[in-house]
Amino acid sequence: MALVYDESYLAYNHGALHPLQPRRVKLAVELIRQTGLARFADLLPPRQATDAELGLVHGQAYIDLVRRLGHGEELTRPELYQAAAAGFASDDNPVFEQMHEASALIAGGSIVAGEAVHEGRAEHAFNPAGGLHHAMREMASGFCVYNDVAVVAAWLRERGHRVAVVDIDVHHGDGTQATFYSDPDVLTISLHQLSRGFFPGTGHPDEVGAGEAAGTSANLAFPPFTWDEPWLRGFDEVVPALLRRFRPTILVTQCGCDTHLLDPLANLRCSTRIWPVVGRRFHDLAHELCEGRWVALGGGGYAVEEVVPRAWTLLFAEMVGHPELATAQLDPESYPPLPEAEERVWPAVEHSIRALRTALDWRA
Ligand SMILES: [Zn+2]
Ligand SMILES: [Zn+2]
Repeated sequence: MALVYDESYLAYNHGALHPLQPRRVKLAVELIRQTGLARFADLLPPRQATDAELGLVHGQAYIDLVRRLGHGEELTRPELYQAAAAGFASDDNPVFEQMHEASALIAGGSIVAGEAVHEGRAEHAFNPAGGLHHAMREMASGFCVYNDVAVVAAWLRERGHRVAVVDIDVHHGDGTQATFYSDPDVLTISLHQLSRGFFPGTGHPDEVGAGEAAGTSANLAFPPFTWDEPWLRGFDEVVPALLRRFRPTILVTQCGCDTHLLDPLANLRCSTRIWPVVGRRFHDLAHELCEGRWVALGGGGYAVEEVVPRAWTLLFAEMVGHPELATAQLDPESYPPLPEAEERVWPAVEHSIRALRTALDWRA
């Protein structure tokens, strides 16, 4: 087991008032240490991804732009238009100092995790700073500059793997899906909230992949107020069967924890009780299908103190095979369903499961 981390990750900082606070990653690693779980893993430092590695997913003109913006270089008028078109005129993705270096470090950290697993130095690896799944080929989006999920998946694919990416962030994994939409050797599964006006607005069941890759993009949508039981039901009805059908050689998971009731940017009502369960599922599937090869990445999570460290420590405890150490110390809480939503959520989740199966022409 490998944990990819050092404090240089804190440089991925969009500013004091931005929802994505880099200290959440530091707090998670501190809790992993406090619970005594860090001793079961090798600590690996991240490194910056090279332009060639980032180029597996992003265009060179975009990488050059990110570098110039983060170095405070004066831009020509066409470059200003290019920067706005690339997403940097928004509050979500403000330009920050050393933007390229800090973003390339996170993508490189995910490669370090993927490399450790690919080379057999670790069965499982976790990069809690990773999971930046919204970045597109030529565009920053949703707090994400480089899409480390797609970069590590492409890096592993180049080394002959069939890669399955399972994204359980509350937001659709749109950048990752777009990267591999026509690639039959990478399966992307995203479980997310889908409702009017909710970011990013994609992730419908009929988004199944293009051409030869039809059937290798899968989307399970949850309505607002979905709580633990229907969320886990959706996961169990969809993820294991799709993975068994695809037969990946490596599992990559984006583990955003913004599904939680306390998350300020979304509307689901999950608790930290899903984490030991989902960790166990991923763990079992990695051993069943991939000889254990499992690369876990972080993702969203904006309840910085209350949720992120607890969720990712519970996940990590499962990765190292000591879930009891975390659950005993962290005592995961749970929330009852919202009475007025209870009757609505179950049928909506059942509908989503059926819609996904119909779109993929597949039955459990
Ligand atoms: Zn294991
Ligand atoms: Zn998210």
